[in-house]
Amino acid sequence: MTEFPEATLRDIQCAVDILKTSNNGVVLSGAGHSTPSGIPDFRSTDSGLWERYDPFEVASLTAFRYRPEKFFEWIRPLALEMQGAEPNAAHVAVARLEEAGIVKTVITQNIDRLHQRAGSKNVLEVHGSMESLTCIGCYTQVPADTYVERFVREGEIPHCPVCGDILKPDVVLFGEQLPVKTWLKAQKASRNCDVMIVAGSSLEVLPVAGLPMRALENGAHLIIVNHSETYIDVRADVVIHEDVARVLPRIVAEVLGERRD
Ligand code: ZN
Repeated sequence: MTEFPEATLRDIQCAVDILKTSNNGVVLSGAGHSTPSGIPDFRSTDSGLWERYDPFEVASLTAFRYRPEKFFEWIRPLALEMQGAEPNAAHVAVARLEEAGIVKTVITQNIDRLHQRAGSKNVLEVHGSMESLTCIGCYTQVPADTYVERFVREGEIPHCPVCGDILKPDVVLFGEQLPVKTWLKAQKASRNCDVMIVAGSSLEVLPVAGLPMRALENGAHLIIVNHSETYIDVRADVVIHEDVARVLPRIVAEVLGERRD
């Protein structure tokens, strides 16, 4: 692995110093956290997922109600990628910060469950997940189990076991409210934290993009690790424009005293 430039090493050291004195941290993760696991950013036009589709025609709530088959056709390759994906080094690093008592909450925009699979316990999935589905007719909620698998394997559109209407994966579509209880918890955690680490999010999707402001307003430190700039870089204590899967493991190893050089 190539070493980091001098300036990045100084930034890493700053992040380490902040985290060593923190015990109520929040990690806010976005698509960039899972791209090293091979999962495309499904909101990004570079992902290839939009090439044949207009997002508002397939991935909005209205579109889903009128043409669910289009939505399922669109999300199927993403669901396939997610089934085969493994947590990366950044997911493991975040889980270790929680285990060490430094991070208390992980707020994620991702729907892939990779944080939980890496060992994170308190994960708030503000954009939902593919783990359950809800009937658009009678609102019965069912675990994804066989439904998602049959859909991914055979393209079979899932139907409600109670009323036969279509089941919608519990992911937040364009034009849809965030899951309210999860969202309230995310706001509270952001207001109360002593440090927020933005990891792999460009903070372009509202309302989640506003959470770092809540943290700053209450005096928390802000550490940003993301490939591209964010609107709030200027207010952050530390900004590292790098791959999370390279930087976070290094930071965590130093925080936990595992590096001796
Ligand atoms: Zn139903």
